[in-house]
Amino acid sequence: MSSDILKTPIEYLKGVGPQRADLLKKEIQVFCFEDLLHFYPFRYIDRSRFYTVSEITEDMPYVQIRGYISNIQLHGHRRTTRMTATLTDQKGSSLELIWFNGFKWLKGKFLHDQEYIVFGRPGLFGRKYNIAHPEVEPVSPDAINQKSAMQPVYNSTEKLKSKGLDSRGISKLIKNLIPQVKDYINEILPQYLRDELRLMNIRQALYNVHFPENAHFLARARARLKFDELFYIQLNILRIKHLRTTESHGQIFKNVGEHFNNFYHNNLSFELTGAQKRVVKEIRNDTLSGKQMNRLLQGDVGSGKTIVAVMSMLIALDNGFQACLMAPTEVLANQHYESVTQMLKGLNIEVRLLTGSSKKSERKEIAAKLTDGSLKILIGTHALIEDTVVFQNLGMVVIDEQHRFGVAQRAKLWKKNIIPPHVLVMTATPIPRTLAMTLYGDLDISVIDELPPGRKPIKTIHQYDSNRLKVFGFMRDQIKQGRQIYVVYPLIEESEKLDLKDLQDGYDSIVRAFPLPEYAVSIVHGKMKSQDKDYEMQRFVRGETQIMVATTVIEVGINVPNASVMVIESAERFGLSQLHQLRGRVGRGADQSWCILMTGVKLSNEAKKRIQTMVGTNDGFVIAETDMQLRGPGDMHGTQQSGILDLKIADLSKDEKILKYARQKALEILEKDPDLKLAENKAMAAHVNKLFRHKVVWSKIS
Ligand code: ADP
Ligand code: MG
Repeated sequence: MSSDILKTPIEYLKGVGPQRADLLKKEIQVFCFEDLLHFYPFRYIDRSRFYTVSEITEDMPYVQIRGYISNIQLHGHRRTTRMTATLTDQKGSSLELIWFNGFKWLKGKFLHDQEYIVFGRPGLFGRKYNIAHPEVEPVSPDAINQKSAMQPVYNSTEKLKSKGLDSRGISKLIKNLIPQVKDYINEILPQYLRDELRLMNIRQALYNVHFPENAHFLARARARLKFDELFYIQLNILRIKHLRTTESHGQIFKNVGEHFNNFYHNNLSFELTGAQKRVVKEIRNDTLSGKQMNRLLQGDVGSGKTIVAVMSMLIALDNGFQACLMAPTEVLANQHYESVTQMLKGLNIEVRLLTGSSKKSERKEIAAKLTDGSLKILIGTHALIEDTVVFQNLGMVVIDEQHRFGVAQRAKLWKKNIIPPHVLVMTATPIPRTLAMTLYGDLDISVIDELPPGRKPIKTIHQYDSNRLKVFGFMRDQIKQGRQIYVVYPLIEESEKLDLKDLQDGYDSIVRAFPLPEYAVSIVHGKMKSQDKDYEMQRFVRGETQIMVATTVIEVGINVPNASVMVIESAERFGLSQLHQLRGRVGRGADQSWCILMTGVKLSNEAKKRIQTMVGTNDGFVIAETDMQLRGPGDMHGTQQSGILDLKIADLSKDEKILKYARQKALEILEKDPDLKLAENKAMAAHVNKLFRHKVVWSKIS
């Protein structure tokens, strides 16, 4: 009962009327007292230090200076009126203070012999610094003491600001709020856990995050709240995982039989890498456990995931089950179909392909063979999840490039079985560990972190646009040696027309530089009809064209081992993971491969960092980590759908240590008390239920 006050609608807070309440709800999703309490500052300004004028630099967001104010003047008239004053610091240097309104109030406000504390954002006019609309207050022991604290800065919006709710306005509201609610804030972590991790109690933490007593207390408060946030996510996913592994059954694949062994001994022309062997073993254990497998397989492009997929499917076959492999596009499904058929040659296993363009008669035949169980391996696109596709006994589902499928889509596939099939999700988009733990915390994760032997690492080079002729020369050289080349242009939706024009211009200039009959150039982009696209793609695959000019439609999965050069135009416009994906299109054959990043001369710092990272490493995990550091986890590939990443205070790119602690503790607690029934864990159980009651579990794939 006592905590009900936290649910009080926000309009009942002092300082919030219906209008402001409306905005708080719409703009920052603050509906009740509790929401405001957990609306944390996004940064703090250190007001513990006073600067002198000579210390000011252009990039300082704020400065705080002590000094005397003199020379107050009104300039201009009407619209252009402004008031200025001179602030002179203790060293005798000065800067200008400027106001554009509020003159009446300011007039006579400043005393000549009074020292003031001036705070604001420094600007540069000519060679002299100024501060517009500074905060000014007289120096007093009180003011200095108070200013020794870190001052919170809250996110606000234009609309909120127009109603007086800028950062300071929000801070004032929270100042009104805390005395009202502080006795009703309940601890949500058990004493034993707080003691063990030396965490601040919740009341102190919430107070200090809004009104830090000092930097040390602030750090502890933030650590405590970050822990809470990450811990409860982990507790929730691990609890779900626990439920899944105790309650849901899985097919047991007892045998490794004829299919698998024949393939392994007769059809595999190379030794598996250590990483591949490890993953096959992991899958083997999963499928023996009696629980449904839910495994995410991460591995860089070309690391050999497909063979692992094929071997998993063969184990299903050896145990009398059917298997399927689903790819996000028709081109990819085709490619998988061809390579799997090739791999299984001579083993007398029928493999069929089902896509949107399969003929009606073929669909019918496939459907019949699936139902009577005579067709064992089906490969395709999301045509596989149509209601007309019914397996006799589906035992293994492999999904390639998982981020292209929605959760609901995936689940449809195995609603058809009473006991769900095992699921292997493959992705070539490496996800940083912290993100994987948070997003897919209830999946088991396998990583292929080793490339097949003998691969020559792709060489990545940065070239400015002005060196294009040199790059063309290099391309001619490679074509002379029999290689093929991709040239990729960005396609970003907001400016699709412009991008298409870029692509067309680029294509024209390449055709001019690489004329028929000596050269043939293909072009592929998203606006083409899918038949035309396929036709061009196939021409390139067959080696009838030497250059493929394309947008990022070729990003995923395409495999042309003879293509050894990837030229990326306007590389500064691509994200890191996309650049890496594109680069993965080459380096698939025995020849030295190249990735050439073309950019303009003017690059933002972030773009520079992306280019440097690409030139510096081929390791997808390093790239994923850097990507997350640069962009923040919220913008990473495929994470937008997930509410889980609306983190209020924790930052997955910086708080790995806290996250690991949180996961470890959640594991330990659930191990002792899986249903959180012990008295000491009651509050925790209530809290996790409250937090996740309404959330869809994104990572649960069955
Ligand atoms: P991924 O799907 O992870 O991008 P693939 O499974 O398509 O990678 O493998 C890429 C290429 O490497 C294929 O031509 C495959 O035959 C080859 N390959 C896979 N594993 C090995 C290995 N252990 N040794 C040598 N070549 C391999
Ligand atoms: Mg692949």
